[in-house]
Amino acid sequence: MGGYTNMVARMLEGSEVRLNIDYLKNKKELDRLAERVIYTGPIDAYFNFQLGTLEYRSVRFETEVLDMPNFQGNAAVNYTDAETPWTRIIEHKWFEFGTQPKTVISREFSSEWKPGDEPYYPVNDEKNSRLYESYRKMAEHESKVLFGGRLGEYKYYDMDQVIEAALKVPF
Ligand SMILES: Cc1cc2nc3c(=O)[nH]c(=O)nc-3n(C[C@H](O)[C@H](O)[C@H](O)COP(=O)(O)OP(=O)(O)OC[C@H]3O[C@@H](n4cnc5c(N)ncnc54)[C@H](O)[C@@H]3O)c2cc1C
Repeated sequence: MGGYTNMVARMLEGSEVRLNIDYLKNKKELDRLAERVIYTGPIDAYFNFQLGTLEYRSVRFETEVLDMPNFQGNAAVNYTDAETPWTRIIEHKWFEFGTQPKTVISREFSSEWKPGDEPYYPVNDEKNSRLYESYRKMAEHESKVLFGGRLGEYKYYDMDQVIEAALKVPF
């Protein structure tokens, strides 16, 4: 109930939380506050892209409010055929079984990524995997920092997988 927001809120209960602060821009000051750091940002950004930039695939969302209580009866419907330009439609109310008279839907379109765009899905081809491996080796020397998650490990994770991986991190 309440989705992942509740889970994360409970995990952070009693901890100091600072939002909208870029760890990399404030690294020196923030590192002084902790014995261990868990870094979940892009691994290439951590090293200031010194070996090159890891590539991603991106997605673009088009969101609409529809004057109807129910559009598709389900939170997510995938479109796998070649003719439909979007890959998925999300109908947000069904994540929480909303009863509103209107409904909000987001169509998700696959899109090209360029540096500066939101990094969504890693491109695990040979070139990028080799580059990631070089960054991973550099990361091993950062004894105080644990690199985790989809950006820190440059790996596609679903929510359940990333949580499982986090639970297994030796800390
Ligand atoms: C478009 C899309 C759709 C998805 N759909 C699904 C789905 O339907 N089902 C499913 O199970 N999974 C889905 N996933 C996967 C799911 O979102 C991920 O598995 C999960 O969010 C990974 O958690 P994470 O902590 O590794 O990364 P994130 O959730 O990306 O968290 C990383 C955090 O680090 C912060 N951060 C990064 N750099 C810095 C910095 N320099 N300073 C401070 N903070 C920083 C970011 O702001 C972010 O909050 C989807 C992912 C994407 C991109």
